[in-house]
Amino acid sequence: MADGTILIVEDEVKIANILKAYLVKAGYKVGCLDRGDAVVPFVRQNQPALILLDIMLPGADGIEVCREIRKFSDIPIIMITARVEEIDRLVGLEMGADDYVCKPFSPREVVARVKAVLRRYGSPRTDKASDAGEVCLIEDTHQVFAAGNELKLTPCEYNLLKTFLGRPDRIFSRNELISVVQGYDFDGYDRTIDSHVKNLRKKIAKYLPHREIISTVYGFGYKFNSQANRKSEMKD
Ligand code: CA
Repeated sequence: MADGTILIVEDEVKIANILKAYLVKAGYKVGCLDRGDAVVPFVRQNQPALILLDIMLPGADGIEVCREIRKFSDIPIIMITARVEEIDRLVGLEMGADDYVCKPFSPREVVARVKAVLRRYGSPRTDKASDAGEVCLIEDTHQVFAAGNELKLTPCEYNLLKTFLGRPDRIFSRNELISVVQGYDFDGYDRTIDSHVKNLRKKIAKYLPHREIISTVYGFGYKFNSQANRKSEMKD
């Protein structure tokens, strides 16, 4: 789970130092990176609480980095942009950033945004899915319930379900799902994903036998059916 660190990704040392000073003063632990291509490995290892992500970076640009992170994590991301014109691009892209600040910014404002995004994030995003249906995932405790019964999931199955619930009805390719479970017991063959999904389905189906909660989309991958998950009021 998140260790409370705010990760600043900014190649302009002066700006990074100012942000760091203000965030430390506000009581946060802070880590800094100055290259885009260092972010994904860092996030996989350290699970920071939030990322302040500059767009123009050496190695990989912030937009690309944000997209990569969204394949496996819903960690809050605030983009830092140097140009107002970029904001339209950011909003239009829908690449999953939670907020953005425009340079030049006041460090106080950035700290306020960080606080606001973390507050919003305090309730897991999967709450919506859990309110709507019968499959419910509680991030704080790593618990998963199907029709009110707690499921015992492997870390791999848990992360797959978390990914599905984060974006209901979106089709995830096997490659995307592989990046979700990497670091657990993944052995490198994309068909291994099939058996993890099969096991996850079996565990859910024990309590919700007549619902197709996770569908196979032939030639593409898998998706979580929000409709199937919402039929809680119907009798089987
Ligand atoms: Ca920059």
